[in-house]
Amino acid sequence: MTKVYAMRFFPGLKCLCGGVSSYISRKVSPVCGRLWAGQWMRSCSRTSQIMKEGNQDSIMLKHLISKIKSTGPISVAEYMREVLTNPVTGYYQHRDVLGPQGDFITSPEISQIFGELLGVWCISEWMAAGKPKTFQLVELGPGRGTLASDALRVFSQLNSVLKESEISVHLVEVSPKLGEVQAQLLTEGEQHLRHDPNAAIYKTGTTKTGLPISWYKDLQDVPRGFSFYIAHEFFDVLPIHKFQKTKHGWREVLIDIEPSSPEKLRFVLAPHATLASKTLIQRDDERDHIEICPEAGIIVQNLASRITEDGGAALIADYGHNGTKTDTFRGFRGHQQHDVLTTPGTADLTADVDFSYLRQMTKGKVTSLGPIPQHEFLKNMGIDVRLQVLLRNTSDPATSTGLIDAYDMIMNPEKMGNRFKFFALLPCDRLISSNDTRSKKHGPTAPPVAGFSELQL
Ligand code: SAH
Repeated sequence: MTKVYAMRFFPGLKCLCGGVSSYISRKVSPVCGRLWAGQWMRSCSRTSQIMKEGNQDSIMLKHLISKIKSTGPISVAEYMREVLTNPVTGYYQHRDVLGPQGDFITSPEISQIFGELLGVWCISEWMAAGKPKTFQLVELGPGRGTLASDALRVFSQLNSVLKESEISVHLVEVSPKLGEVQAQLLTEGEQHLRHDPNAAIYKTGTTKTGLPISWYKDLQDVPRGFSFYIAHEFFDVLPIHKFQKTKHGWREVLIDIEPSSPEKLRFVLAPHATLASKTLIQRDDERDHIEICPEAGIIVQNLASRITEDGGAALIADYGHNGTKTDTFRGFRGHQQHDVLTTPGTADLTADVDFSYLRQMTKGKVTSLGPIPQHEFLKNMGIDVRLQVLLRNTSDPATSTGLIDAYDMIMNPEKMGNRFKFFALLPCDRLISSNDTRSKKHGPTAPPVAGFSELQL
């Protein structure tokens, strides 16, 4: 079994290796691995930027205080939505929050192998689906565009396999600033794109690799069609509602003004059931505190319908749990965990993803796999072989150290390897065995789903 896997995998890797040395040095030089080796997940490094943000944070705080004064305490979801994505002063809107100058670092920013293997995953699922002529790569919350760039490089390198196909790229991004960073990396630059800020498709153009690319603020505006949906560290920034079990039943946690200090915010419990507590809590729970992200549920329902009707698959990677954790809402700023209610708008806000809720929201329309730990998924995708290939292609000791440190960061169970999970949504018939007469689409040779089993190309 292992031999068959290796035999079938190596030719694919050889294709990936052509010209690999040039991008090793480019990717690994400033950040990947080395600078960040002592840090992990949402660590921050923008002390100097923070100094310049004095005004901005007070604008957001004033805005929130006047909102609370006029309508009463707000839900945590409304708070998160305002703080992160308010079109004027939201945290994500006007700054590049990722990388060495930003607030936190993510796996695709640490290691080029991450995005490459996700690109390989798409190709593997595309082959399993019978190589449909057209497919879309759709990324939700693409950050700096690094994951997409690494995946698209794999698509180019595997041109011999993909040459008959028509591929297009679709990015769902609310941040104008990050949209610019993505355009810079993936295309010949903003000036070569067509812009229409008020349209659902607010930017279109062509990637450096010659594929049509478009930007949207909302998944529902992405055209229908056979698609691979990738969401890495996207679901954790979506607004959550928080609920506390009390002797009177579940009560929603709200955010109010601190009476003793009117420039400060505090958490309070709603005195009565709110619309959210009545509609979102559907069953009793052993936990005494829960977080629910209805926006994540809506997106997953949308993904499930699309995958059922148009084909394709979704891969969701994030930190999270299976309906077991309680209070995970936190902020990050300047290398450290940051109080979520202090200087809103200058720190990242995030909460663990509840994968059991996502699964529940598919309502059985699609099959789900996982969540499985990141180290297991990447191992199954062949990360060890890929690392060896990259190491063989460089003679620079610093580059080799960077590659190894980056590998350790994303794979080590004590670092990102265990904390991050992979979760996939697939058409219901994807996992039906080839002997089953219901399995028509995938034919007799449909392989197991890569990442959740060993990759076979
Ligand atoms: N996937 C990237 C970036 C993660 S940060 C990586 O792993 O490196 C979260 C990303 O989601 C950012 O690009 C942010 O601008 C975007 N984002 C946040 N809220 C969003 C929303 N409601 N809709 C679309 N994109 C959103």
